[in-house]
Amino acid sequence: MTAEPAAEETLPAIDQSDFAQCLIRFREAAIDAGVSETTTDQVLSQVSLSERVLELDRRQPEFTQTFADYFNRRVTSARVERGREMLATHRTLLLEIQQRTGVPPQYLVSFWGLETNFGSYLGKMAIPDSLATLACDRRRSGYFTGELVSALRIIDSGDVELAEMNGSWAGAMGHVQFMPSAYLRYAVDFDGDGRRDLFASTEDALASAGNFLQALGWQAGLRWGREVQLPEDFDFALARGAAKKPLGDWRRLGVTDAFGHPLSTVPVDAALRLPAGHRGPAFLTYANFDVIMGWNRSVYYALAVGHLADRIAGAGQLRTPPPEDDLRFSNDDLLALQLQLAALGYDPGEPDGRLGPATRNAVSLFQSDNGFIPDGHLDPQVVEKIRSLAATAGG
Ligand code: CA
Repeated sequence: MTAEPAAEETLPAIDQSDFAQCLIRFREAAIDAGVSETTTDQVLSQVSLSERVLELDRRQPEFTQTFADYFNRRVTSARVERGREMLATHRTLLLEIQQRTGVPPQYLVSFWGLETNFGSYLGKMAIPDSLATLACDRRRSGYFTGELVSALRIIDSGDVELAEMNGSWAGAMGHVQFMPSAYLRYAVDFDGDGRRDLFASTEDALASAGNFLQALGWQAGLRWGREVQLPEDFDFALARGAAKKPLGDWRRLGVTDAFGHPLSTVPVDAALRLPAGHRGPAFLTYANFDVIMGWNRSVYYALAVGHLADRIAGAGQLRTPPPEDDLRFSNDDLLALQLQLAALGYDPGEPDGRLGPATRNAVSLFQSDNGFIPDGHLDPQVVEKIRSLAATAGG
């Protein structure tokens, strides 16, 4: 995942003549980077500018997703069931991969389920079209030019043929949706047929996921984190900035597991996360949670991976379900709130209409100063207070 440069969103999209010029420049760069002329010309003679990719890349979601929106759509009972079946079907393979990489079976199955619903949807966009379009567009040209070169190298190596290189509009492919650069670096030929095939070989795909997680620093024998229960008088400001503390400190503060049992005494650091504020589930997350975020830089995603893995391994649902009545915000709503927070002296970071860590931090500080529970979450009463104080301050 890459951070989208918000300031450049208004750049006009490229047209056919820009695209043709860009491909001429790209051809030279690819060959300089060591891709064969044959592969380069084969691919470049077939790629076309994809208006659909440009449209998807510029699309702004109308409203933010709440944690419930995100989580309930991805961690479904059908997916848990199917995940348990996959765990049983592929047990031998998964245990072999665990032995090699330290990543337990249920996590591999969880990533697989979230990325492509266990290989049932790998994406149908022609990857070279997607990447060439994004590489020639101005917004994130450098990143996608690198990914396109990587895609050509994969074709060059014989791992994947051009005709079968389909995937997501943003260039991710195969059972576990690797970007081409990750494919080149981390894909493995686990079934021993001489090709690293993340499309047709479940063995290669799951082993590659394990290999990638190991390279990101997965710690064998450690969980991702867990749902917890907080004591009545808990100071929610301790969750600010997802600051880490030794597990023992959280124990002393009265935090228990989701069932009210004492936390374990393993000497690990943990961050408290409240994706839906104090009304929703609370989680302590450990180092492997950060590894999951190295795969996809989204707290919601990482919580879904961790919880789905637990469910696949036999655990029940969250003890505290995500609240269904959380507010959804448009980008304009959030931008206005960021400007209002800034006017009131709380730094929300670059005002970008997104609910990032700096904005949550500003909300939490505002809550502390105004008699709210400082969970960094935008409940209706908090939003109302920010608006009314900003209106008063503004004259
Ligand atoms: Ca293979």
